[in-house]
Amino acid sequence: MVHCLNYQMWMGGITDHLTLEATGAMVVPFGVGSTDLLIETIRQVGVNAISCTPSYPAVLEKTLNEHFPQLDPRDLGLKLGLFGGEAGLDDPAFRQRIRDTWGMEPRNANYGVSDVLSNFAAQCEFDTRLHFLAADVLYPELIDPDSGEPLALVTGAEGELVLTHLQRDCQPLVRFRSGDIIAVDSTEPCECGCEGFRFRVVGRSDDMVVVRGLNLFPSMVAAVINGFPELSGNYRIPLDTRPPYDYLPLAVELAANVTADTSADGGLAELLERAIKKNLGAAARVSLQPAASFELTEGKTRRVLRNYQ
Ligand SMILES: [Zn+2]
Repeated sequence: MVHCLNYQMWMGGITDHLTLEATGAMVVPFGVGSTDLLIETIRQVGVNAISCTPSYPAVLEKTLNEHFPQLDPRDLGLKLGLFGGEAGLDDPAFRQRIRDTWGMEPRNANYGVSDVLSNFAAQCEFDTRLHFLAADVLYPELIDPDSGEPLALVTGAEGELVLTHLQRDCQPLVRFRSGDIIAVDSTEPCECGCEGFRFRVVGRSDDMVVVRGLNLFPSMVAAVINGFPELSGNYRIPLDTRPPYDYLPLAVELAANVTADTSADGGLAELLERAIKKNLGAAARVSLQPAASFELTEGKTRRVLRNYQ
């Protein structure tokens, strides 16, 4: 296992490393950056699993294209991808894209709130949704992110996750607002035996964009974009003015070797606008960008750009 999350001044790096070792894995502590060296390391050491953010495989792919053109992503021999740190891992199209490109199985492996506890939810072999695994040490609550009012933590509930330490001698946190909006899918025990509630991370409360009363998160937009093979999957939501918004501004990147079709019907941009209207109910204004327009990041990718004062 090569571990490609940040080890520097961030507790997630070392705690995830120790968690991986506790499973019996041999862990190469790589950290972020130096993608060329990472590719050499994976090949020389015979690494077959990677732990990173879900947006990092795109960086690896680009580096392979530019510096190792003789290698296909599958040639690296990665069989398992343990992902965490960003929303969108429940999206079947994203998961299929990882399988098709890399030949590796994606796993929704670690969810945590580093201020509170680095790693306390993951999928199992039966269900890709996150299972809450920390009932003995954390008390979870849900609140309405706008009003702060408590919400019942029941199947179908959606709200901001709030956490309280039950077992900590030093600096216990009481009702810490995680900033993560989660959707509770089930409070019944899973087939795997876990009795914790199962949930999806819908997005960050500070990433929420309200368009005509609809709460939109980048992960919802990504799910629509990932249905278009002509697009790379990379995108930004550039907000040039303060709310309110009548439509969602969206800049999307074309896949490699695809050029914009500006023929009848407005082409690809209009198709995507229609798909967003149909799936999310919101109007969008799409601008197509050439392949590789957006910077690829090693850590968490900022999708919503608030370009106003
Ligand atoms: Zn399970």
